[in-house]
Amino acid sequence: MRYSHIYVEKAAYGYPLTRKILSKLEGSTVIEVAHYKDIFDRPRQDLVFQKQHPALILAVRTGARVFRGAPVCQSFGQRNFYYASSIMNCPFDCEYCYLKGMYPSSHTVVFVNFEDYRADVEEHLSQGPMYVCASYDTDLIAFNQLTGLADSWCDLAEEHDDLLVELRTKAAPPELRSIPNVIYAFTVSPEAVASRYEKGAPCSSDRIRGTGFGVQGKALL
Ligand code: SF4
Repeated sequence: MRYSHIYVEKAAYGYPLTRKILSKLEGSTVIEVAHYKDIFDRPRQDLVFQKQHPALILAVRTGARVFRGAPVCQSFGQRNFYYASSIMNCPFDCEYCYLKGMYPSSHTVVFVNFEDYRADVEEHLSQGPMYVCASYDTDLIAFNQLTGLADSWCDLAEEHDDLLVELRTKAAPPELRSIPNVIYAFTVSPEAVASRYEKGAPCSSDRIRGTGFGVQGKALL
């Protein structure tokens, strides 16, 4: 995955994940910015053009990071349902994607301060078990090779039996870590739909073949 331009928040430079990502993307033009919203939240952006030529933005997530799940969202009967966004936007380009109407930009924002997400989750866990959907506004597994953030969520789940993490994906990773309290949620569309409407995503047979479909999560709450 190549990005011709990477915008880096001044505050993000000191984070190991920033250095790791920049080292993987040598040759890209790196531009320092004061705040990621200076790029991401500009008005009148061309989302279609940006989807074809996305830039990467590395930023520090301040303020709230873990949110209560909305009642209209699927909680699958889990209590203490939360979601978190450690990346915004997706490498794929599904025609029906709700992110097109949610964000003012198609550029990808990666928040490099996962340790703060960890602290927030652990603070919630001190009140009781929780179910966190960590890949609503992105595809963390598709970005894992670049960012390692799907692994970070898996690590956190491995450390806390009372944390149930859901990772949604349309990727076809060669392997997935089998962790009882991680739910891998796959979209497996009919090939006619996948090839026509899910641009850039692996075909459904590759998604099935890539994952082996043998990993099961468990309900905790
Ligand atoms: S995989 Fe999901 S998040 Fe990514 S473009 Fe498709 S619908 Fe949107």
